[in-house]
Amino acid sequence: VEYDVVVAGVGVAGAFVLNNLAKEIEAVGIDRRERLGYPVECGEIIPTYKEMKSLLPDVDDHSLFRIPERFAVNRTTNLQFVLPNGRAIDVDFEMLVLKRDEMIQEIVRESGKKLILGRRFDYRQKILFDGEEIYGKVIVASDGVNSVIRRRMGLGHFEISPAKQFVVDGFEGDEDTVYMFVGKRISPGGYAWIIPKGNGMANVGVGFRHKFAEKGDTIHRAIERFVREWRYSSELLKNAVILEKISSFVPIDLPMKKAVRGNVLFVGDSASMVISHVGAGIPTSMLAGKIAGEIVSKHILEGESLERYDLLWRRFMIRAMENGYFIKRLWDRMAESDERISRLFRLLSKNDMGEILRCKVPFKVRLAKLFFPIVKMLA
Ligand SMILES: Cc1cc2nc3c(=O)[nH]c(=O)nc-3n(C[C@H](O)[C@H](O)[C@H](O)COP(=O)(O)OP(=O)(O)OC[C@H]3O[C@@H](n4cnc5c(N)ncnc54)[C@H](O)[C@@H]3O)c2cc1C
Repeated sequence: VEYDVVVAGVGVAGAFVLNNLAKEIEAVGIDRRERLGYPVECGEIIPTYKEMKSLLPDVDDHSLFRIPERFAVNRTTNLQFVLPNGRAIDVDFEMLVLKRDEMIQEIVRESGKKLILGRRFDYRQKILFDGEEIYGKVIVASDGVNSVIRRRMGLGHFEISPAKQFVVDGFEGDEDTVYMFVGKRISPGGYAWIIPKGNGMANVGVGFRHKFAEKGDTIHRAIERFVREWRYSSELLKNAVILEKISSFVPIDLPMKKAVRGNVLFVGDSASMVISHVGAGIPTSMLAGKIAGEIVSKHILEGESLERYDLLWRRFMIRAMENGYFIKRLWDRMAESDERISRLFRLLSKNDMGEILRCKVPFKVRLAKLFFPIVKMLA
């Protein structure tokens, strides 16, 4: 079977590709899941439209980030960092908590494109199932962090971080606040989060990087400690009932330099298109998906070069991605000890933290990186 476009993997990125393909394009979306976006392997937060405008200032049109109310379960206005010694720092930052699975399903439904669900594919210049082959003039590799297409094309690995998350009922904190906890005991090399979904529901998770962890520690123990033992988080979760558990990976590297390889376009996590210091990939996957859908349509209908996709996603997002990566690299040096983490936060004002959340690198942070050997000595 041959299509104009095969969208291989229908998560956030694939959904936005399908939705932005022109009507005339014959396309198929393929996913191993029976129900798109489910189970939800994500904290489901996205900065609001206002925040996205300062976070990705190079984008020409931010309207994509005006997310309809029906896709959100909660809106938060505050982000609270909780340091290893319990000190809490509040920063104004607005976010929406999405119904990510429902958003994906509706965006795909709106596209009207054909779907093949519940089938796992392999790739060798064409999409392969048991006993079936599917060709596309263009293949969109939106198959996520462990992309089989990337592996089959020999494009190598990028750095990823394991993450584990529970959905809980009975959270007893502030529903306007997204909580980010740092400290080696609960989240070596990353952070742990509580994201309120309203009515006492919350996404509760930890990032866990082995190279920063105590010998023998595991992500499973870390999340149990976070929920049941860690003084500052367990207090908010003492009556919480765990409803669901998921484990997955977040890309935390720079994006691929070239996301167009012949007739294959990489979109979203498969290309590590993330804001790596916070492990955020929903907005970047949405935007890359939209650009890919539009360029692929023009390619098929008008002969536009596919390389224009690389030009545009980089133009709109690379600055934010590179700044996020810069901060992540600094964080890697600080995350070796809780004492160092506390020192880093002492250096930062609330304003600096707001800047960092919006993918800007405050001047003193650039300096801190430069003078890191001295900071390290003082720590
Ligand atoms: C625990 C966790 C929490 C996170 N929290 C946030 C957050 O709060 N905010 C944020 O912005 N980002 C968050 N992220 C990152 C974010 O979820 C991803 O960056 C984003 O979802 C990437 O979308 P995607 O479409 O590229 O990949 P995915 O959503 O992973 O989609 C890939 C799709 O491809 C399908 N697929 C893969 N291989 C095959 C195959 N061989 N055959 C058939 N189908 C296949 C999968 O079933 C899947 O549906 C989080 C990630 C994790 C792991």
